[in-house]
Amino acid sequence: MSKKKTAQLLESLNERIDKVQSSSEFKKVLKFFSKFHNYSYQNSMLILMQKPEASFVAGYRQWQKKFNRHVKKGEKGIAILAPFTYKKEVKKSNLNSNSDDEETEEVKRTYFNTVYVFDISQTEGEPVPELDMKLENTNKELINLLLNYADSQEIEVGFKPLSDTIEGYSRGGEIIINEKANETEQASILMHELAHEHMHFNNESNSLNLSKEIIEMEAEAVAFVVMDYFDIESKSDKYLALYKESYDLMESFKRINDVTSSILDHLLVNEEKEDSKKDSENK
Ligand SMILES: [Zn+2]
Repeated sequence: MSKKKTAQLLESLNERIDKVQSSSEFKKVLKFFSKFHNYSYQNSMLILMQKPEASFVAGYRQWQKKFNRHVKKGEKGIAILAPFTYKKEVKKSNLNSNSDDEETEEVKRTYFNTVYVFDISQTEGEPVPELDMKLENTNKELINLLLNYADSQEIEVGFKPLSDTIEGYSRGGEIIINEKANETEQASILMHELAHEHMHFNNESNSLNLSKEIIEMEAEAVAFVVMDYFDIESKSDKYLALYKESYDLMESFKRINDVTSSILDHLLVNEEKEDSKKDSENK
C-alpha cells in the first residue's frame, strides 16, 4: 500500500475518533472511561505480564469511589509501581564537600512503592456503559490468512472463551482470541494483537516509553488500515475514542506504515498462492 494511502487513512481515523468523542452518545461513555489513569509503559508492561487480558484497571478504593463498583471476593491484585516524591532538607556541605557552611538546601527525592490495581473484569457493581463493537461477519477468509501469517512469525494463536469485555490479548509470542467472536471480528482482533506483537514487545518500544494511549492507538490503527484494505468496516474509531487523550496518530506514521506494509505484503503473496492453487484445482 502506498504511503499516501496509509497517511490518508490515518488522517481520516483521527477525525473519526474526534467525532465519536464529541458525539452525545459517547459523552456518557467517555465520562466513565476518562476517569481511568493513563499508565506508563513500564506499568502497562507490568500489568500485561501479570494479567494480559486486563483492559481498564484502577486501585481497590478507586473502584469504589470513582466507579461505584467493587472488587469481587478472592480476586488477586496486579502489582504496579507508583512513584512518590518528597522533599528533603539536605546540608549544603553534604552536597559539596568543599564548602563547610551549615546552610541547607531542599532536594526532591523519588521512590517507588508497590501498589495493587484490579482489572474491570475483576469488579462488579454499577453497570459499565456499553459500546457496540460488534462487526458483521462479512469476511470468513481473512482470519485464515492472518493465522498463516502468525505461524510464519512463530507467534502462537489460541482460541478461548473469554468474558464479554475481553476480545483478546497478546503477551509476546502468544495471542489469545475470544472464541465467541465471529470470523470477521476474530480477524480484526488478531490483527490488533499482531500489531502489539510487532510494535510493543521489543527493546525499541521499551526505550520509547510509550503510554497505554499510544500503544492502543498504534495497534488499532494498524488493524484499521489492514481491515480497510480488505473492505471490512471497523469499529476502530469507537475503540480508540476510549483511549485517545491528546495523541496525534500521525506521530506514529512511520511505525504504523512499516508494520502494515510488511503484513500486507505477506498476506497478499499468500492470497495469490491460495488463489492459484484453487485455479489449478478447478482446471
Ligand atoms: Zn490492545
